Amino acid sequence: MAEGFRVTYATMSADNEELHKGYEEGIEQAKAQLGGTIPIVVNGQERPGEGPYELNSPIDGTLLAHVSQATRQDVEDAIASARGFAIEWERTGWRKRVELMRRAADLITERRNELSALMALEVGKNRLEALGDVEETADLMRWNAKEMEDHQGFNVPMQAMGAPGQYYDVMRPYGVWAVISPFNFPMALAGGPSSGALVAGNTVVFKPAHQGALLGYKLYEVYRDAGFPAAAFHYLPGRGSVVGDAIVHHPDVAGITFTGSYEVGMGIYRSFASDYPKPVICEMGGKNPTIVTKHADLDKATDGVMRSAFGFGGQKCSAASRVFVEREVYDDFVTRLKGKTEKIKVGNPLERDVYLGPLINEDAVHTFEEAAEEAKKNGNVIAGGERLTEGEHAKGNFVQPTVVEVPDDSWIWKRELFVPFVAVAPFDELDDAIRKANDSEYGLTAGFYSEDEAEIREWLDRIEAGVVYVNRRAGATTGAWPGVQPFGGWKGSGTTGKAGGGPYYVTQYMREQSRTVITE
Ligand code: NAP
Repeated sequence: MAEGFRVTYATMSADNEELHKGYEEGIEQAKAQLGGTIPIVVNGQERPGEGPYELNSPIDGTLLAHVSQATRQDVEDAIASARGFAIEWERTGWRKRVELMRRAADLITERRNELSALMALEVGKNRLEALGDVEETADLMRWNAKEMEDHQGFNVPMQAMGAPGQYYDVMRPYGVWAVISPFNFPMALAGGPSSGALVAGNTVVFKPAHQGALLGYKLYEVYRDAGFPAAAFHYLPGRGSVVGDAIVHHPDVAGITFTGSYEVGMGIYRSFASDYPKPVICEMGGKNPTIVTKHADLDKATDGVMRSAFGFGGQKCSAASRVFVEREVYDDFVTRLKGKTEKIKVGNPLERDVYLGPLINEDAVHTFEEAAEEAKKNGNVIAGGERLTEGEHAKGNFVQPTVVEVPDDSWIWKRELFVPFVAVAPFDELDDAIRKANDSEYGLTAGFYSEDEAEIREWLDRIEAGVVYVNRRAGATTGAWPGVQPFGGWKGSGTTGKAGGGPYYVTQYMREQSRTVITE
């Protein structure tokens, strides 16, 4: 990849020959690895697990790997090993852990072409999205390491009062931390939480998503090759309802980071604590609104909405799915958005000029078809609305990027669809638009387009979301970057009010111990 050319989610285009040449080499490296078996890894030992499943590409069904599924015994052994090593890992000290984490981040950067090509094959991300996910993983690791270093391991002298001695406050890890990740950021949302937990001194048991096990295994390899001790990180692929459930309900798991749907996340949130409270970080779904007023630059607004509604096929928790546009500019906005949507190239995401790859599976296509049906019956399809089944689209889960109008009471305004599908509606009063934007159980991201200072202030003060953007062409609601836009949700989108890649993230993986050591 070209020196100095850095792909983030705000990268608008990559007319960069070196970048593409590197990525194409990555495709060759990736393809050479397909068809093998991915094992369980407990304490550095590969295990066969049980009932391997076929991991196929959503692009054309190609067999990527046979993935072993962890047994209950594998889960037990991994947690026992992680628990047994916890004190030693804490005693290793934050400086060493920071050094190892930085080495892991650098390995990811070195391997980015191969990793992003594998990601395109596993989940269908286009080039820029896949490179972004891989680079984000490295930057989340670097961010978490920097937080530990900036705070010198969170060891703070306190006031001495009374007998002479040492009076200090230290943040200490919880012990065994579980990380359960979703399919849509198979590297960043496995690497971000696990790096936070590890650098803070916890040992980690990790379960990737069913359709994310390949990149999950690659993350394990990165930690191994960076020199992390075998007992610090255990890789446990398998079904969420079996392996995930066994991890969540194990009494020796001290804390958990889950990223995924509201339904599963709320179940974990409610049931994770056993005899006493335990920290639970759940990052969940979104139904992210964008408001466009008559004072907006419509070219910027339609670029931003188009990118956030259709980037990775709407399969982002931060996807823009509800857009409210002031009536005076509504028709103009809709015409421009329709034009940009219809130009999107849908196809094999490994190809250079493809923006929209396949949906993750047949269930997602079903959701798309259900939503399109609702719009055709009760509203109006402005662009798209169909599944694509001909030619290069025949073997994968391809659909058209879709823009619809539906009545206020349609379920499309409420349900997270996770497909390339956005609803638009006109509004007359900003007050009403903000009220509608906030009328959701979710509160993850939100976008606003207006060149009017007073409107911007009003919106910033009232919008209920953890990550908000004003006048952003690179994405109305998507594209947060570690250290730039901390990422976390309010309301039904997140349990902690703290954000990944931000200043309050890593402390969640530790608890305070106030120490008084009298020396007289
Ligand atoms: P999901 O179906 O909820 O699965 C997430 C993870 O949980 C997977 O590893 C899954 O395993 C596992 N799981 C499923 N049932 C479980 C159970 N009963 N106990 C323990 N683990 C269980 O979500 P997804 O479809 O992978 O991801 C999409 C969702 O994630 C969307 O709702 C999206 O908004 C959300 N998301 C949120 C954020 C954020 O930062 N807020 C970021 C990305 C995605 P299997 O794959 O084996 O079922």
